[in-house]
Amino acid sequence: MARINDHFLKLKAGYLFPEIGRRVSAFTESHPEKAANLIRCGIGDVTEPLPEAVREAMHKAVDELGERETFRGYGPEQGYEFLREAVAKNAYQGTCITANDIFISDGSKCDTGNVLDIFGPGNKIAITDPVYPVYVDTNVMIGNTGEGDENGRYEGLVYLPCNAENNFVPAIPEEKVDLIYLCYPNNPTGASATRQQLEAWVEYANKHSAIILYDAAYEAFIQDPDVPRSIYEIPGAETCAMEFRSFSKNGGFTGVRCGYIAIPETLVGTSASGDTVLIKQLWSRRTSTKFNGASYPVQRGAEAIFSDAGKAQVAALVEHYMGNAKLLREACTEIGLQVYGGENAPYVWVACPEGLTSWDMFDKMLHEASVVITPGSGFGAAGEGYFRISAFNSRANVKEVCARLKAHL
Ligand SMILES: *Cc1c(COP(=O)(O)O)cnc(C)c1O
Repeated sequence: MARINDHFLKLKAGYLFPEIGRRVSAFTESHPEKAANLIRCGIGDVTEPLPEAVREAMHKAVDELGERETFRGYGPEQGYEFLREAVAKNAYQGTCITANDIFISDGSKCDTGNVLDIFGPGNKIAITDPVYPVYVDTNVMIGNTGEGDENGRYEGLVYLPCNAENNFVPAIPEEKVDLIYLCYPNNPTGASATRQQLEAWVEYANKHSAIILYDAAYEAFIQDPDVPRSIYEIPGAETCAMEFRSFSKNGGFTGVRCGYIAIPETLVGTSASGDTVLIKQLWSRRTSTKFNGASYPVQRGAEAIFSDAGKAQVAALVEHYMGNAKLLREACTEIGLQVYGGENAPYVWVACPEGLTSWDMFDKMLHEASVVITPGSGFGAAGEGYFRISAFNSRANVKEVCARLKAHL
């Protein structure tokens, strides 16, 4: 019989979103009249239509593929130069990152998981708690952890607690680690990291020759001009960080699929024999072997995000979602709940009322208000006692959620 990868068996069965789905289905079956008014603020998926500039560019690209003269087959594995140039110019001007350092992909979820291909065994891996579950589960799958406990914590990982005391940005660890996952603005807490906090992380990483895997999927939602948009705004990041970005949340590409990784020329790791190896070279080799490039119409659509029209349309989307976040923050504050996030990110992170766990709060909101939220404990043990409300919704739905919060809490 074919032998399976046993590491998969360590994964906790009750993964967050299936469990939410199960509870919502049970509610829908037992209370069909209430379920008709159900509003979902759970999963972090965009709701507003794809920007017009993107649709136009994609239509045009499809038509090009329909003519022999302009047809294109396989593109460059690393991504078309037109898109890499647009990214370098618009996202990384004034930093160490050039078009050659950009690798276009079909999204950041895959990138943050696939990146483990190029790192060996034995690395000490630091993960924030709470966290985007992909970082944890992909490390479990590849065998970088031991067994998990009932809280979903795995042996061998270094957990960095994020809480109200540290403004949801972890303290620098006492011990030496090799890989650090950081995501700012953060999913799920909606927190952002200050320049000073990122400087401390970059200094730590350089001191220990560690690599920061910096997930900047929510960069476009930053409102505060002092909050860094990229880790490469921090001097020294060119020798200790790779950055992941996506068109999913700013451009509404969750169903279209496009993202990218930036890897500086100066980022290195070490081999078993002690040789220094360029990270970019390994990722390039990995990409050309396992990937045949993102779709051409999709890359043209992504390029259009950086056009004048595209920028204006993305700004309007961001303004819409951040307007939602503001209303949600105000409603929660008004009813006396402690609210975090939602100022530079489309997630509002709320402390549960006294005596209620995250799942108690989930059930209460579902049964009493017909609103789906996400229990904080699903993102890690340190998320217990909090819940996340997503601002990805229509304005009408958000206003209704605010009214129901006030009526039921
Ligand atoms: C949504 C999200 C992404 C983007 O994922 P895609 O695969 O590009 O859609 C990356 N990181 C985090 C933390 C996210 O929430």
